Amino acid sequence: MRAIVGHEQVTARLGQAVASGLVAHAYLFVGPDGIGKTTLALEFARLLECERPDLTTGDPCGVCSACRRIAHGNHTDITLVEPEEGKRQLGIESVRENVIHLANLAPSSGRWRVFILPNVERMTANTVNALLKTLEEPPESVVLLLTTAEPENLLPTLLSRCQIVPMRPLDANVIADALTARWSVPDERARTFAGLANGRLGWAVRAHDDPDLARARAEQLNKLIACTYAGRDERLAAAARLGADAEAARSSIELWMLWWRDVVLAAHGATHLLNDGAARDEATAQGRALGPEPAERFLRALIEAQAALEQNANPRLTLDVLMLDLPHLARQASGRR
Ligand SMILES: [Zn+2]
Repeated sequence: MRAIVGHEQVTARLGQAVASGLVAHAYLFVGPDGIGKTTLALEFARLLECERPDLTTGDPCGVCSACRRIAHGNHTDITLVEPEEGKRQLGIESVRENVIHLANLAPSSGRWRVFILPNVERMTANTVNALLKTLEEPPESVVLLLTTAEPENLLPTLLSRCQIVPMRPLDANVIADALTARWSVPDERARTFAGLANGRLGWAVRAHDDPDLARARAEQLNKLIACTYAGRDERLAAAARLGADAEAARSSIELWMLWWRDVVLAAHGATHLLNDGAARDEATAQGRALGPEPAERFLRALIEAQAALEQNANPRLTLDVLMLDLPHLARQASGRR
């Protein structure tokens, strides 16, 4: 699947399934937001529908009538089911209408009817139960491609009916090269986004398209950086804000960890850091002021906090504990170097 950057094991496995005729009725693409789950699902759908795919490379031909209809967005056998504009959650009515009803109709052409449902963890239990009935006895021609960032929050009955496709973060160099080659992002800018992306190409592309996203991330990072200098009350107030919900807590900790790795590197005297600009200068200053041992101790605390959230720990409590573990530094008086 040449359209997909990285994820070679996964694309090989899906290509193999098509080549051998052993396509499962349901796949669950698992990985963090922006890793490329929906992109991969769409590409897999193209491969399934293509009339003359290249079975050695797992690529759709790009010229058959199915490929052309997909390119024009009017292939009726591929349905991407997303929440209505402005809503976070997919409604049960939408699943009934766009999945369950259509699944019982024969494909209009070709062999498969493919349904792509991103973020299944956001569905209500009722919606998932409605979907499970289709998954229990799927019509012969149906392939469901589900995605999730939170497999731990899914019903075991749902997980057990899907082939799980884990998607791992990409190397920052792979992301930077792809941004330069495929999105024509200037090299230095590409490296900055790749450094911030935590292995998620989709996030880096979004940051390139939308400067607000990169700016919001920089602002959030500034707030986290400031916590090292803050007193106890200020820190606990920050924990309350950051821990308002599990997703916010998760993204804050992830960002914090990415930056704090640079603090640890700087504490060991490294000068080649992942972050750029002011974030890099701050990491250097804090790392040097703290020294290796306290810097590493807090990195371990961040890793533990992330693991705790994955086990459904209370986000507010997790952040409270982190704030108390965070080493304290006094702000240097301005004017000093
Ligand atoms: Zn084709």
